[in-house]
Amino acid sequence: MALNVLDRLVDYYHENKISHVYLVETNNVELCLEDLKKIVKQIFCASKYQENCTECNICNLIDQNYLPSLAIIEPDGSTIKKEQILELKRNFSTVPIYTKDNIYIIKNAEAMTQSSANTMLKFLEEPEEHIMGFFITSNLNNVIPTIRSRCEVIKAMYDVHELNIDSVFDDSNSEFLNIAMTYLEKLEVEKKDSIMYNRSILLGKISAREDIKKLFQIILIIYEEFLKNSLNLPSKYQKFAKNNFLSSYNRKALLKRVNLVAQFLEDISSNVNLELLLDKFVIDLGDVDE
Ligand SMILES: [Zn+2]
Repeated sequence: MALNVLDRLVDYYHENKISHVYLVETNNVELCLEDLKKIVKQIFCASKYQENCTECNICNLIDQNYLPSLAIIEPDGSTIKKEQILELKRNFSTVPIYTKDNIYIIKNAEAMTQSSANTMLKFLEEPEEHIMGFFITSNLNNVIPTIRSRCEVIKAMYDVHELNIDSVFDDSNSEFLNIAMTYLEKLEVEKKDSIMYNRSILLGKISAREDIKKLFQIILIIYEEFLKNSLNLPSKYQKFAKNNFLSSYNRKALLKRVNLVAQFLEDISSNVNLELLLDKFVIDLGDVDE
């Protein structure tokens, strides 16, 4: 599973807090699709859901891609065509069979053409009861804006950790952990002169791209630990998470930070200018609670 973002959807569903359509940006479209199918199983499983449920008809049908109320649409050739969306609408014009809701998942949403997007819009503008939708994309910016603007955007990032979580908190990484905490404290508590901290705290001590990357992997883990804590999930570093300035942030604020750092780690892998990237991070972090 990617972080805990997708996991929460099951709870949101039962709490009636789920949005009717999500746009999920991910660095692994295939895994994300599998996770979304798992979520559909967890919501609708006819027995008590367990990983790899083989007990019930619904989970079995989902595994075989044969559940009538779950439509998974992927590009036909290089694009998702208008006809595919029309067929979806036809199939979902009747009440769902087997499950309470009809669910569609559009894989590679950036492959939607203008006309398939236009056909989709009515679906999105007049949300019918008992229809849930998910668009999956590897790049938010390539999704047609009229679609994007009507979705709740979430991120599902995979395998960004090259660090073992336990090693982050042991002696071998104490120097990095200290720098990370000092940096975060300056950014989150003091806040003024934020961009200067990139030079005074980070680049003075570590400047190699690989080291900055490692530092941000540690920062990601720190934010995730606080996020777990705020969700009352078991966090290995409960104590660490409780005695700290980040404890006051709520789930939403922490989730935004997790997303921001995950984005940073994606960006740093491409050959962008390191100082500019760090400055962008600091500026985005400053804006994140507004
Ligand atoms: Zn089941």
